[in-house]
Amino acid sequence: MDYQKIITEVYSEVKSEENKGKIPDYIPEIANISAEKFGVSFTDLNHHSFGFGDFEEKFSIQSISKVFALSFVYEKLGEELWHRVDVEPSGNPFNSLVQLEADKGIPRNPFINAGALVICDILLEICSNPKEELLSYIRNLSEEEDINFNEKVAASEMQNSFRNTAMCNFMKSFGNIRNKPDAVIELYCHLCAIEMTCKQLSKSFLYLANEGEKPSNMAQILSPSKVKRVNAILLTCGFYDESGEFSFRVGLPGKSGVGGGIIAIYPHHYCIAVWSPKLNAKGNSYRGMKLLEEFTTQTGESIF
Ligand code: GLU
Repeated sequence: MDYQKIITEVYSEVKSEENKGKIPDYIPEIANISAEKFGVSFTDLNHHSFGFGDFEEKFSIQSISKVFALSFVYEKLGEELWHRVDVEPSGNPFNSLVQLEADKGIPRNPFINAGALVICDILLEICSNPKEELLSYIRNLSEEEDINFNEKVAASEMQNSFRNTAMCNFMKSFGNIRNKPDAVIELYCHLCAIEMTCKQLSKSFLYLANEGEKPSNMAQILSPSKVKRVNAILLTCGFYDESGEFSFRVGLPGKSGVGGGIIAIYPHHYCIAVWSPKLNAKGNSYRGMKLLEEFTTQTGESIF
C-alpha cells in the first residue's frame, strides 16, 4: 500500500475544500492560532515516517495528553484504577457535570475532563514530581527532549477553569479526589498545555500499535492486555460525544484535543497524527476528521 501517495492526495483534497468549524475561544491563549494550519504525520512500526503541511510545528495537544497520563497511571496502578474511573462512553460533552451526581463522583471514562482530573489526582498521589515525571515519560516515548508545557496556555486555562474546578470539588465531595482541588487543577491545566508536533505524536503513540512495546528499543510501556483496554477506551470514548461517529466514519481507535489535534492508531501497523485548529460542533478538528475518514476509505484499512 502506498500510504504516502494516498495521504498526499487526501491532504490536498481536504485542503482544497472549505475549512469549516470554529477555533474555540474559551482558552484565550490558544484562540489566536491561525485557522489555516494543517499538518499530518504518519509513522509505522519500522519508523518509516513522513508528513505534510505543518507537521513539524508544535501545537497545544490538549486532551491528547490524557492518553499519556492514562497509560502512565494504568501501568503503575493496574486494574485498581477502574474503581475510581469507569470505561463507558459518556454521550455528553467533555466538560459536562451532569452524570457525576448520579454516578456518585465516578467519571464515566478517563478521557472526559472529570476522568482526567481523577487521573491527575492519582498522579499527585503516586509521583513525587508529577509534572517532571510526565514530561520525561513523553520525552522517552517521542525520543525528543524538547517537549514541554506551554506555561502561558497553562496559566490561561487556570484562570478560566471554573467548570473543571466545579467538577473537581464535586468529585471531592464524593471522596474521589484525595488531594487539594487547586493542586489537581494546576496539574490538569499543565497536562492540557503540553505542546508537540504531529511528527512527534505519530511516533510517540506507536506503543499502542505495537502491543505496548516501543518499537525502537522494545521497551514494554504497557502490557498487551492493557493496550487492548486503552485502545478499546479510545475507540469508544476518544472523541467526546462524537466517539460513535468517529468510529463509524474512520474505524480506528484515536483521541482528539481542542487544540485541533487528532491521533489515530492502526494496531500492528501505524499511527497517524493530524492537526487543524478549527473544530466542529462536538469539539473535534473538522479537517482532521475529514482527512482520516478519507484516508481509511482509500486504504480500506480499519480495525473492522
Ligand atoms: N483543557 C481543555 C479543558 O479542560 C481540554 C479539553 C480537550 O481538549 O478536550 O477544557
